[in-house]
Amino acid sequence: MNQIHIMEDTLANKIAAGEVVERPASIVKELVENAIDAQSTKIEVSLIEAGLTSIRVTDNGKGMSEADAIRCFERHATSKITNEHDLFRIRTLGFRGEALASIAAVSKVSLWTSDGVEGAVVEIEGGKVLKYEPGALRKGTDFHIQHVFFNTPARLKYMKTIQTELGHTIDLVNRLALSHPNISFTLTHDHHEILRTSGSGDILRVLSDIYGVAVARKMIPFQKEDADFKVKGFITLPEMTRASKNYISLLMNGRWIKSYAGTQAAIDAMHTYLPIGRFPIAVIDITADPILTDVNVHPAKRHIRISKEGELFSLIKEAIKEAIQGVTIIPDAVKKEKPITRDSEQQTIWTPPYRRPEVTIPLHEHETQPTSTPVEEPIIEQPSPVFPEAIFESQEDSVPEEPVVAQKQQERNHFPSIVPVGQVHGTYIVAQNEDGFYLIDQHAAQERIKYEYFKVKLGQVDASERQQLLLPLVFHYSADEQVKIEECKSALEEVGVFLEAFGPATYTVKEYPAWFPEGQATSIIEEMIEQVLEKRKVDIEKLREESAIMMSCKKSIKANYYLRQEDMERLLTDLGACHNPYTCPHGRPVLIHFTTYELEKMFKRVM
Ligand code: ADP
Ligand code: MG
Repeated sequence: MNQIHIMEDTLANKIAAGEVVERPASIVKELVENAIDAQSTKIEVSLIEAGLTSIRVTDNGKGMSEADAIRCFERHATSKITNEHDLFRIRTLGFRGEALASIAAVSKVSLWTSDGVEGAVVEIEGGKVLKYEPGALRKGTDFHIQHVFFNTPARLKYMKTIQTELGHTIDLVNRLALSHPNISFTLTHDHHEILRTSGSGDILRVLSDIYGVAVARKMIPFQKEDADFKVKGFITLPEMTRASKNYISLLMNGRWIKSYAGTQAAIDAMHTYLPIGRFPIAVIDITADPILTDVNVHPAKRHIRISKEGELFSLIKEAIKEAIQGVTIIPDAVKKEKPITRDSEQQTIWTPPYRRPEVTIPLHEHETQPTSTPVEEPIIEQPSPVFPEAIFESQEDSVPEEPVVAQKQQERNHFPSIVPVGQVHGTYIVAQNEDGFYLIDQHAAQERIKYEYFKVKLGQVDASERQQLLLPLVFHYSADEQVKIEECKSALEEVGVFLEAFGPATYTVKEYPAWFPEGQATSIIEEMIEQVLEKRKVDIEKLREESAIMMSCKKSIKANYYLRQEDMERLLTDLGACHNPYTCPHGRPVLIHFTTYELEKMFKRVM
């Protein structure tokens, strides 16, 4: 008995839709790419609820005839290739002729189009034509997609939040705008404008529309070509970096592509210029004979096959390297760290501006200290086996079960009472008591003191302790970053950062907690925002923890800095007041103990 039959078109289209229509952003991609292929100079994308409710793409391109207006929804309907030969010289973004058929299978589509000679209006729902009639003669095309995924409800369930979907679409439109600087793009969400590019053809201007002027100002151009490839673009100077590689965009013949090796080539070119974990913002525009590329390896055409790949990646690396080497890299003077000085009058040690609540902390609170978080765990790095007993061992002893509140620090954390006797290499404090002597890493000690101070402050952001600014601080973020920032705004407010939206791609801050380390507010706020941008979900406790560590690292007394006797005493008192005085926030030891017994053993005074 024969069992095989040919699927009905509607069913086949629905199955194919799974590949093309992953999420609202993939529909926007298909519609905008069609508009680009139709030689439009102006493309408007409007979304309602991130496109889950409605997606509208309007262009001023060449439009379609009345017959094409219905034919475009058929499977394998395309005007872009006619034979196999064309497949190797593709210059358009689309060519498979399946996007519209797939989209129409899983949504309600309304189309208005005209090639200037004829016009048509078409309405299709779930693959069925509801309306097909002549329309107005305004040249261009307008696609309106509604009830996306309405007849495949399982998919809707797996949709991430509106914010996530919107983020994907903004990222996509940013890249399409970057790859087509001569087209003016507008993106609106729930009637608010998110992005507008001028279409002037100037790629730097598009970069500025997307990432803000501040970023664009820090970008330098590069350009290089060989017999097969032409590479050009812009990259940020090493002082303007991001925590993710996602800001490096690669374009191949006007198509945004994903290429791990291509991204890596840009990063390699900046090697030694960038701090670990930081990446540039860049756009790398590659032109090549289409014969060298195969775009037909992925339905969404993001990944492409490139012949002479190695050659291309070296060319990218060389182009960027030459550009970077051609400029002198002197970061803004304000950001420059003060040179290390030996004059103790000029640089005093940092002390917490308030008295620690030492006598009010009941003993049980000590038990609830976050000793389980990794940074609190002491990493015991003993210098060598001859050097005995690191002090952290005493930490494991149980806290005395006294009914009274802690009166002295020693009772809270067993921190010994020690007296400084001097300093080694301007780096380590030597201190002593009857149990032997101690070496204290002054830099690690100060980081610990600051960390605990900021941790407390970040947990109780108080409106009365605010520094008002005459001139607000200004921050620039791209629209997709803004979406994420909006989502995390309340978490940022909990750590004292109140952002106010100020036009596209810009936020201002008019006040911040007065206890932010002096002169560092901008970089602290930037780093806090980066922390939320990196995370998929923001955990307020983690944000506090990481912010406290970040703030504790700022401007601590560094090694090679001589301290006066009273500075050392103050440092040891503050250290003793810490909940965990034994390790710095990164887990390195703060002090090492040499017992009297071990000293005597080393000098053979005892056996
Ligand atoms: P493909 O882009 O692979 O050809 P699509 O299904 O995306 O397939 O589109 C089918 C055809 O519809 C295109 O080849 C083009 O002729 C026509 N078309 C789609 N969108 C537009 C538009 N915005 N302007 C003019 N023609 C369009
Ligand atoms: Mg297409």
